[in-house]
Amino acid sequence: MDYQVMIVGGGIAGLTLAVKLASCKVKVLMVEKDEKSGLIYKGELLQPKSLAILKKLGVYEQIKENGKMLPSIEMTEFYQDGDSLELIGENEFRYDIIRSEFNTSVMLPHEKLKEILFRKAKQYPDFHHMRPAKFTGFTNKDGRRVANVSTKDGETSIEALFYIGAEGRVSPVRNEMDVQIKKYSYNHHFLTVSFPRPPTLKSSSIITTQERFLGLFPLPDGEVRSVLLIKPGEYKSMRKQGLESFYQAYIELMPEMEGYVNQISSWKQIQLMIPVRHNVSSYVKDNCVLVGDAAHSVHPMAGEGMNLAIQDSDVLGELLCWMFETDRTDPSHLKWFEQVRKPRAEFVSRLSHQAALLYSFPSLSWQKLRMKGIHNTERNNRLHFKQMLNTSGLGIWKFSIVDRMKQIGLVPHSFGSRSIPESEQTKHFFTEQEDYPWLKQ
Ligand SMILES: Cc1cc2nc3c(=O)[nH]c(=O)nc-3n(C[C@H](O)[C@H](O)[C@H](O)COP(=O)(O)OP(=O)(O)OC[C@H]3O[C@@H](n4cnc5c(N)ncnc54)[C@H](O)[C@@H]3O)c2cc1C
Repeated sequence: MDYQVMIVGGGIAGLTLAVKLASCKVKVLMVEKDEKSGLIYKGELLQPKSLAILKKLGVYEQIKENGKMLPSIEMTEFYQDGDSLELIGENEFRYDIIRSEFNTSVMLPHEKLKEILFRKAKQYPDFHHMRPAKFTGFTNKDGRRVANVSTKDGETSIEALFYIGAEGRVSPVRNEMDVQIKKYSYNHHFLTVSFPRPPTLKSSSIITTQERFLGLFPLPDGEVRSVLLIKPGEYKSMRKQGLESFYQAYIELMPEMEGYVNQISSWKQIQLMIPVRHNVSSYVKDNCVLVGDAAHSVHPMAGEGMNLAIQDSDVLGELLCWMFETDRTDPSHLKWFEQVRKPRAEFVSRLSHQAALLYSFPSLSWQKLRMKGIHNTERNNRLHFKQMLNTSGLGIWKFSIVDRMKQIGLVPHSFGSRSIPESEQTKHFFTEQEDYPWLKQ
């Protein structure tokens, strides 16, 4: 046996898992096909549960030093009539409604987080990596799986006790596992780009009209990551019209962007993002496991994809460490990973879908319904807490039918709006036993 665990993919899921395993002396190999990252933009918003996990891994101080804390998200709605905008709604969802050490989100450039995790992994002698090295499939050697890896020096085969597919949306490990995959697509695309931000932009902000959606997420170093919702085909027509049409889409919604968004000098800086959501039927087969985007991808509206990857790797990392520490390396124990993570990831996937629907229909009546729902959720402490808890990853407290009636105004939002005491809040946080149920064995 060459390694105890082989991880395919050196993204956030692969790196988080590698740090955890190497820290508990599991001999781990991570293979990454790209010498450099291909996409300019990927997930950058870290939610509270991910921050708690990164603290356990010993990198939280670096996250705080290099990231931008964003404790709330502001939502501004305008009615647009030609060039004129009328302010018709302002709301704010606050993480500090959650009584936890980790009641904020943090924006951190994706590549910076990877760099921090990679540096941490290299501190452990049990961490090994190959890059560029592409996993191409398994072969059978005397009844055991062996991984084929293609490197600059040619083909090589690697044998491990467990193989982890952490290769993102296109996953050869998943293909080999022959699991089913359910895909959902959407009636919109996004354009995403970072550029210097005006000093007035300090919080995460979503600015919407009956037709438009612009998300703005301040980054450290005076930059902002932006996400503009467009119709399919609009990217092509905007490119034809030139960058001016792109600048105008921003300046129309936020006049302070003048002089800032214009610093984007080429379409090459702007990335087209086509939202797809998928879920696989099973995360585990024999000695193979899927984590992160290989197992599920969520609609980007929720800002959760990278967080699910970190949270998967935390649970799988703890489980594999326990399996090796207690000499229980039978693959049947991997069922615990799927048992904990699949329902949670599917819950977040549904949340991301609901968030996408809120902004999917360009009409005034839909905008009014959305505004009512957001306003009533913000004003009712219980609904506000549930919203933020479910987003944070720290726990789950589902909305009831009565909650839904309050959101759409069929029941007054002031009904049952007392603030939730800490003792009641903590009942809805995931306990250590719920995160790592095998430990009570
Ligand atoms: C434009 C964009 C914006 C996003 N914004 C957000 C956001 O704001 N918040 C959020 O939480 N999420 C966001 N996401 C989602 C988030 O980036 C992903 O959910 C997250 O990166 C998943 O991590 P991962 O490690 O599972 O996969 P990936 O990040 O895709 O990493 C997989 C790695 O595996 C490597 N690999 C692939 N195939 C092989 C192979 N055969 N052999 C070896 N290596 C291989 C790849 O090169 C890659 O490095 C965004 C995604 C995109 C594309």
